[in-house]
Amino acid sequence: MDVRDQNLIEIEGVPGFWEELEGAGRTCLVLDYDGTIAPFQVDRMQAFPLEGVVDLLTHIRDGGTTYLAMMTGRPMKELLYLLGDLGIPISASQGAEFRYPDGTWLTLLPTDRQEDRLRKGVEEAAALDLGGKVERKVASVAMHTRGMDPDDAKRVEDELCRTWDADADDYNLDCRHFIGGVELRLKDVDKGTALRTLLDERPRDSFCVYVGDDHTDEDALEVLKERGTGIKVGSPDVPTYAAGRLKDPYAVREFLKGWTKIAT
Ligand SMILES: [Mg+2]
Repeated sequence: MDVRDQNLIEIEGVPGFWEELEGAGRTCLVLDYDGTIAPFQVDRMQAFPLEGVVDLLTHIRDGGTTYLAMMTGRPMKELLYLLGDLGIPISASQGAEFRYPDGTWLTLLPTDRQEDRLRKGVEEAAALDLGGKVERKVASVAMHTRGMDPDDAKRVEDELCRTWDADADDYNLDCRHFIGGVELRLKDVDKGTALRTLLDERPRDSFCVYVGDDHTDEDALEVLKERGTGIKVGSPDVPTYAAGRLKDPYAVREFLKGWTKIAT
């Protein structure tokens, strides 16, 4: 098969991507969820995958050559509700939850001391009360600002991170920005640590690809640098560890179509 005849989407920055994929024996594909395969929605529980994407993922999962996994900042239960249970490995809650295909579910819990600080973080976030939504996750507190006036959103995010970062180090926590909010979370637990764990279980000669759109995906993209090809979704102006770029979730859907043609 000649990849040039396949009408494949071009991946900016990685012109030989499809040839490399075709030449690879074992492959792995790790995808972020929000902003990558599911367009953002103000109501976060309405952010479903683009039409056709679940079928494409199922096809890739069943193709026999690709190890397919998903990573999200959302709690595991939310991801399973929105995506459906495809029986693939999933890292959720920014690396604090992991579920294997056989259903084994691992959770990194905060210490009692961290738990007390996170509870206080919920109160501090609620006290700002400018229309953002506070979410308590298993090992973090997130403040969502999507849908707010952009200036208000920035003010809330900056003020909260200032408050949280004032003593975060003492609790081995830190405040991190994501697209649409900020989060007080366990330090050194992120999509990068989750991806490293996952890659350590893959054969060294696997050709691995990670696709993500957010600041939080950069941890994974940095880890991937030595092991494969990173693809950033979104504007070319945002600095990234990724070599490649796709414009938006619609382009990612085209990318997945290409993957089913070449690597399944
Ligand atoms: Mg995302």
